[in-house]
Amino acid sequence: MLDAAAGAAIDYLRGIGDRLVLPGQADVEHLAVLGGPLPDQPEDPVAVVELLARVGGGATVASTGPRYFGFVTGGTHPAALGAAWLAAAWDQNGAYDVMSPTAARLEEIAAGWVLDLLGLPADAAVGLVTGATMGNLAALAAARHALLARQGWDAEAQGLFGAPPVTVVVGEEVHVSLLKALALLGLGRERVVRVAADDQGRMRADARPPLDDRTVLCLQVGNVNSGASDPCAGLIRAAHEAGAWVHVDGAFGLWLAAAPSRRHQVAGVELADSWSTDAHKWLNVSYDSGLAICRHPDALRSAMAATGAAYLQVGGAREAEHHVPEMSRRARGIELWATLRSLGREGVAALVERTCGHARRFADGLTAAGFSVLNEVVANQVLVSFGARTPEVVAAVQADGTCWCGGTTWHGVPAMRISVSSWRTTEHDVVLSLEAIRRVATSVLGRGGAPGR
Ligand SMILES: *Cc1c(COP(=O)(O)O)cnc(C)c1O
Repeated sequence: MLDAAAGAAIDYLRGIGDRLVLPGQADVEHLAVLGGPLPDQPEDPVAVVELLARVGGGATVASTGPRYFGFVTGGTHPAALGAAWLAAAWDQNGAYDVMSPTAARLEEIAAGWVLDLLGLPADAAVGLVTGATMGNLAALAAARHALLARQGWDAEAQGLFGAPPVTVVVGEEVHVSLLKALALLGLGRERVVRVAADDQGRMRADARPPLDDRTVLCLQVGNVNSGASDPCAGLIRAAHEAGAWVHVDGAFGLWLAAAPSRRHQVAGVELADSWSTDAHKWLNVSYDSGLAICRHPDALRSAMAATGAAYLQVGGAREAEHHVPEMSRRARGIELWATLRSLGREGVAALVERTCGHARRFADGLTAAGFSVLNEVVANQVLVSFGARTPEVVAAVQADGTCWCGGTTWHGVPAMRISVSSWRTTEHDVVLSLEAIRRVATSVLGRGGAPGR
């Protein structure tokens, strides 16, 4: 069984750099053979996995390949993939220490390494969640707990009915997932106070409203379009003088702190009260892997622990369940540990530096070809305009299949977004992709036609 699966996985990854990034229409339609009525009779698992590899594999998006630049998407580092295979064979429940000492220790070790790499307080509490959305949720639940506890209100016991109000301040370009977290927490996605942003999408410190000790200020490092980071140091100091809680959404941008030449962009971020980040984006851990980090361990544990159930009060160990929304869950610290152990401090820094360098190459190549790069390329994100017909160019680049880039709107202008986040991307992949983008754009816009602005 495992030989069959491994063989199929190895074949898949051998070809990942050669296939078109998007599957063909025929492959997508072929997925229908996986459906039909639920079979009555059992089937050999090997046959099932072989069918899955053939039909399912054919209609995958090559997002783990070297030329996928959509959203902010890391590939799977080899150590993560190998560890994931083992983790699946072990099938450990990561909820409690007693369920898996291996899962519990690896989670603790990996959490400590992440705090060290990112320059965050060594005694912060860390929950390993599915991604930055749940990282935002868990961390903001801790903030909600702390701010209401100060006012004598027990949010977990009493809920929000009749609770004193909490104000949430966000930047104009807050990520939609943070608003989703606020909605889930009963804090309301439209109740937020929005602070104006500058031309790179950073919160404008001079536009910050007055804050107090009933306020959560949500900052962002790594704007999903421009890659720019809010000016953390000044904003966090001012917020703390007023007694506010500061949360930072750093889904990918927090990893700038792991690269010596980029760290200054997020200076002061370590002063915040809570952070959310992803391991499945820039760190290239397999899905799904994110972290909720909180300077105040009791706040996170009070918000997350299922203390109602007496049988769950086990020993003095760090219980994973007390740090995350889930109880039973896959032991996702295993892949995180393996990736960090394999890359090491220098490998993580090199991954961040290298992908930023590729983004720079994209920006330079596109500018040289006569297209407008819209953002200051400070990280791994590039926004390019092909004029009014940008959406057509984006669709044609996607259909061409050499690479995949997403469309976006940047300050009212349609743009194509290039995010270089994979360990697999080489300089050659950038050259191939630039050639394809130039060729496709020229053909859409008409030979010799100026792209316009
Ligand atoms: C991607 C992203 C998120 C959401 O992360 P998920 O891993 O998809 O949950 C949140 N904030 C920012 C800034 C992001 O880039």
